[in-house]
Amino acid sequence: MWQNLRSTIANGLGGCRRAAEEVWRGAVDFAYPPACASCLGDLPAETSSTTTEFCDSCWKGLSRTLDMPACLRCAATIGPNLNPDGCPMCRNEHYRFDRTLRFGVYDDDLRIACLRMKHGGARRLIAGLGWAFLDRHAASLNAEPLDLVVPVPRDWKQRFFDSHSSAAVLAEVWSRALKVPLAPDLLRKTRRTPPQARLVPSIRRTNLKNAFTVRRGEDLTGATILLVDDVMTTGATANECSRALREAGATRVVVGVLARGLGRRELNT
Ligand SMILES: [Zn+2]
Ligand SMILES: [Zn+2]
Repeated sequence: MWQNLRSTIANGLGGCRRAAEEVWRGAVDFAYPPACASCLGDLPAETSSTTTEFCDSCWKGLSRTLDMPACLRCAATIGPNLNPDGCPMCRNEHYRFDRTLRFGVYDDDLRIACLRMKHGGARRLIAGLGWAFLDRHAASLNAEPLDLVVPVPRDWKQRFFDSHSSAAVLAEVWSRALKVPLAPDLLRKTRRTPPQARLVPSIRRTNLKNAFTVRRGEDLTGATILLVDDVMTTGATANECSRALREAGATRVVVGVLARGLGRRELNT
């Protein structure tokens, strides 16, 4: 079934981005004048920022950890020597996902931005950081034969009381830009679980066990999935989602997150 939806990144991310950006910007600029995606201040015509989404001041704070070396497997910050087999944070973890790409570290300005994203009015901020993520990882994403973009789901009660999901908005942005089909309801969270933030890391890993499933009847045989979330900490959520995707036949899962945390403060995934 997914094969019918498959779309390649034939023109490269640059071309896809420009085409998709026209559509996206057309919709966004209709509602908002050009402004910084974070502080909503006017964007100067000339900027030293490498992104067109943020003013120099906001970009300086948000991108502070952008160029820090990250583990190819779990995206934790590491030393300068990249090891495809993992880092001290993940070497003993049996993750069911293959790779994690991050925008930055969950700290300082990016942490504050991620907390703001939890609210419904932050679509522009999510989109701005989503575009910046794509700029950062263009080469890596072009090399992945992505078939579907899938957001990490929430349970029915979370959806009932708050229809906004930053993971869902982010997945929408990346699906448009990459021209890879979005599957917003493919994954389901089938039971409610205590908030990860209230649990110690060792319990977080078991709290979500078998909490996710793929929609009945879906065959993902051979598919490569881009699994999307705003923040990753222990990797427990991404791991359980990946388990469900693999049980439905997916052969490769790439996790994309805006921020990688290390288990402190409000981290919840
Ligand atoms: Zn700004
Ligand atoms: Zn690692």
